[in-house]
Amino acid sequence: MAQRGALLLGCIADDFTGATDLANTLVRNGMRTIQVIGVPDGVDVPADAEAIVIALKSRTAPPVEAVGQSVASCRWLQQAGARQIYLKYCSTFDSTDEGNIGPVADALRAELRTDFATICPAFPETGRTIYLGHSFVGDVLLSDSPMRHHPLTPMTDANLVRVLGRQTKASVGLVPIATVRKGPAAMRDAFDALRRKGIAYAVVDAIEDEDLRRIGAACSDLALVTGGSGAAMELPENFRRAGLLAARAGAEGLPDVGGKGAVLSGSCSPATLAQVEHMRARRPALKLDPLALAERGEVAISEALAWAAAELETGPILIYASAAPESVNAVQAKLGRARAGSLVEHALAALARGLVAAGVRRLVVAGGESSGAVVQALGVQALRIGPQIDPGIPATVSLGGTSLALALKSGNFGAEDFFVKALERLR
Ligand code: ADP
Repeated sequence: MAQRGALLLGCIADDFTGATDLANTLVRNGMRTIQVIGVPDGVDVPADAEAIVIALKSRTAPPVEAVGQSVASCRWLQQAGARQIYLKYCSTFDSTDEGNIGPVADALRAELRTDFATICPAFPETGRTIYLGHSFVGDVLLSDSPMRHHPLTPMTDANLVRVLGRQTKASVGLVPIATVRKGPAAMRDAFDALRRKGIAYAVVDAIEDEDLRRIGAACSDLALVTGGSGAAMELPENFRRAGLLAARAGAEGLPDVGGKGAVLSGSCSPATLAQVEHMRARRPALKLDPLALAERGEVAISEALAWAAAELETGPILIYASAAPESVNAVQAKLGRARAGSLVEHALAALARGLVAAGVRRLVVAGGESSGAVVQALGVQALRIGPQIDPGIPATVSLGGTSLALALKSGNFGAEDFFVKALERLR
């Protein structure tokens, strides 16, 4: 349990890499941040933590499970002394229409006894912006981006007011960019006006980081704030303005871990596919076939580990299930979307355990769900967050058990050379 007094901000993230991305933002803005994996249960969080980010694996869980885990996390954070709660989801608002963002936000509002929360998944640094309630990825609408073909959460509607409206019985409103640009006071007035109309959620436009800073400042008194990692960037400054947080710049160093290096990739995003190609051209790489995993399960995994043990003698290796949309569609047609996903995640988890047994201590994982599965399999309970490798992706070191240097990335994140670069930065 964190020391009472040190903890200011309590965060709940709906997937693993999203949590890391948020923790990275908080560290860069001067908050000592620990990421806890799963609903905390006997976790020893360092007493100096000023922000705790709880990483759930609830994005695609049945809504009732996602709600239960989120509410339990919220209670724990409040008991640990958190003064504000932040709900983090993906900057591309990944969810199905049965999806969890609405029900979880509703339950957290009830738990925190508040009638209102903001919704702002913008992340301009990686091209995710919101204009008049519509989500853009680069220069196209979310619904025209590759997210349309995501294996688990295909996004076919870019209008976030409408998408959230389908997930909650509460009313959803908009705070347009014109109001955001007028500053925090104008935004607070807009929040109050929506509240008076009984509107529980404001989707807030944001096109550049400066918008997110204004929005963050406007949210200083809200019990519940929600969004991507970007909408949290000003929250440390709010605490500093209130005299609660020391003035300090940026990330802290991490201890050296040493050991062999490997990449496990379960993301099928275009960014990851390019990263796989980049590393494949330079280092030994092995492709996992979900159909073979369905037929030969543990045998296929043992063969992959035998291959890895030999290749690791020469340096880092890559094992990937990542495949282009046509191939993913063909696999899903045969196995079903959920079974294909869980077969790959199970394999990545088993491989991670085998790789650590073979001496790997520096591990890069691509994919939100994939990272969640790997970290759970390795029994990692918490991470100390260090310096950023690429936007949204920090180097981390695991706490408790075998010390591992980990870089866990959401599918869309990272430059083409990310895998190679991350292995160099993890020490
Ligand atoms: P991202 O961060 O890109 O969304 P995730 O790991 O969260 O990546 O999700 C990718 C999902 O796709 C996982 O459930 C993974 O198991 C699944 N998957 C990976 N490779 C394949 C494949 N070749 N065919 C079908 N599904 C796959």
